[in-house]
Amino acid sequence: MKSALLYGHNDLRVEEVADPVAGEGQAVIRIHASGVCPSDIRSYTAATAAKRDPWTPGHEIAGVVTELGSGDTGDLQVGDRVAVDWRGVCGRCHQCARGAANFCENLIKYPIAGFADATVMPVRQLTKLAGNVSFEAASFAEPLACVLNAHRALPLPLTENVLVVGAGPIGLLHTQVAKARGGRVIVTDMKADRLKTAAALGAHDLVDASQDQKQAVLDLTNGRGADVVIVTVGIPAVIEAAFGLVAKNGAVNLFAGTHPKGNLALNPDVPHYDQVAINGSHDFIPNDFATALRLLQFGQVDVAPLISHRFPLDAVAEAFETTKQQLGLKSLVVAEVQEGEK
Ligand SMILES: [Zn+2]
Ligand SMILES: [Zn+2]
Repeated sequence: MKSALLYGHNDLRVEEVADPVAGEGQAVIRIHASGVCPSDIRSYTAATAAKRDPWTPGHEIAGVVTELGSGDTGDLQVGDRVAVDWRGVCGRCHQCARGAANFCENLIKYPIAGFADATVMPVRQLTKLAGNVSFEAASFAEPLACVLNAHRALPLPLTENVLVVGAGPIGLLHTQVAKARGGRVIVTDMKADRLKTAAALGAHDLVDASQDQKQAVLDLTNGRGADVVIVTVGIPAVIEAAFGLVAKNGAVNLFAGTHPKGNLALNPDVPHYDQVAINGSHDFIPNDFATALRLLQFGQVDVAPLISHRFPLDAVAEAFETTKQQLGLKSLVVAEVQEGEK
């Protein structure tokens, strides 16, 4: 089969490799859709990439089971359509026991290798897809699960003002989840086309971030600021500006890591006198993954407008370059559906 291999800085090649074989309790999955994530781009552009053996990135995967190994494979059958959860959590450690399996102390990061014709995974990491969830939609289960992990920690009573900073793929997922939770959603971005997509996905109000966004947010919130601010942009200046957009007794979620690393200038009177909660969020717990697939199944989140580019596996390097240059929204690597699959 063919697989992408990351050799080093900006050096991603597609090569012939051995077909995966299902071991005990494992399944081989023929990959139909694999999303390019900003974290893939950080691996791709990192100078350190050359320091390890060539490896296959890709962790936002959906496909079809083509082979089952021996042992307990549950009710999974060859031909089942599945989404792949790359985080193997133990369910028994201190963090799992307190509901924070995103920080499982025995986490197994499976080498799931999504930019390939096929991959092998333990069956316990696979979730069957509802008939109306496409492979492409299911490849968003992973980023959507990360978004849900953030929302579990955010108070959001009905009609509270939510400000989503950044209308990239992640911001557009936050927009829809905040709306599904009953929030009044304001989205800010510099790019008009991204704001247009936010409006199409249900955002109530849009703010052009290249103008006076603070005044615009105050005007939209009776001078109070937003009750919840979700920052999906990993730029310190943008995060600092977000502290000026939050209402008293509000909350700010820092969803994006900063690359390159940066420090924040934070006036401590914001968390103190204004009683603003500042939190972050990272990865997800298994229940977030399941909830993400249900949101896609029941149409509360629509990811079709987020897909701007589709590439065959042979053009995976082009997919990475497209994401690196922030062209469009989400790039997917997709395979043709074969006979007998749907
Ligand atoms: Zn991802
Ligand atoms: Zn654990």
